[in-house]
Amino acid sequence: MPIELEPLPMLIVLSSPSGGGKSTVCRALLEADPRLEYSVSVTSRPPRPGEVNGRDYWFVSEDEFCRLIEADAFYEWAKVHDNYYGTRRDIVEEKQARGRDVVMDLDVVGGLSIKKQSDRAVLIYVLPPSLKILEQRLRARGTDSETVIQKRLRNARQEINFAEKYDYVVINENLDQTVATIRKIIEAQRHSSRHQRVKITGEDTII
Ligand code: ADP
Ligand code: 5GP
Repeated sequence: MPIELEPLPMLIVLSSPSGGGKSTVCRALLEADPRLEYSVSVTSRPPRPGEVNGRDYWFVSEDEFCRLIEADAFYEWAKVHDNYYGTRRDIVEEKQARGRDVVMDLDVVGGLSIKKQSDRAVLIYVLPPSLKILEQRLRARGTDSETVIQKRLRNARQEINFAEKYDYVVINENLDQTVATIRKIIEAQRHSSRHQRVKITGEDTII
């Protein structure tokens, strides 16, 4: 009897303090691996310059976000830095149904909630090499005001404490190396018994 391995789609959660590099890493992973698809979150945060509705986020009003909470549309949601963010259940399920591994960029509350709900979750925490470098990267990104940067740096210290609850922790010093390491983690996880089912199929051909 032929033996086959059926992949079970994974939920790959990337988290880091703001400016840690998770969006950059996500983009590189998605470009490199066609089996990965990004779960575009819903948010009540206003778009930053250059952000595109449906690509970076689904941008909605706070009222609309609350309506979606009541309709049980979210796999998980959280309030981060004064704004609401959530992962739509239907978006994730549609990708899983097509056999794709779903990549999510979530805060730690969201990441741990996904882990609690699903055996398919793989949680990866991306750390900056230092708080000084985190500050430099936030400034160099040029997307946030000084007040917002200061708030994000204060939050970073608390958020980093959650890294030990994640399955993997990677320091994002050199971007190419970080992406290569995370690709190895994903590849190894695809071979895990947790993420594939062994199937004995059909009849042996009798010669
Ligand atoms: P996050 O999504 O975690 O908030 P970003 O991906 O936006 O972080 O990264 C913050 C900034 O740091 C961006 O300008 C990005 O280009 C830069 N960056 C990310 N990783 C590295 C790295 N390894 N070395 C240098 N700069 C980086
Ligand atoms: P930003 O406003 O910088 O895009 O994101 C702020 C934070 O919200 C980041 O830590 C990001 O990972 C998190 N985030 C983005 N989408 C979601 C989501 O759907 N759920 C949760 N829990 N966090 C999210």
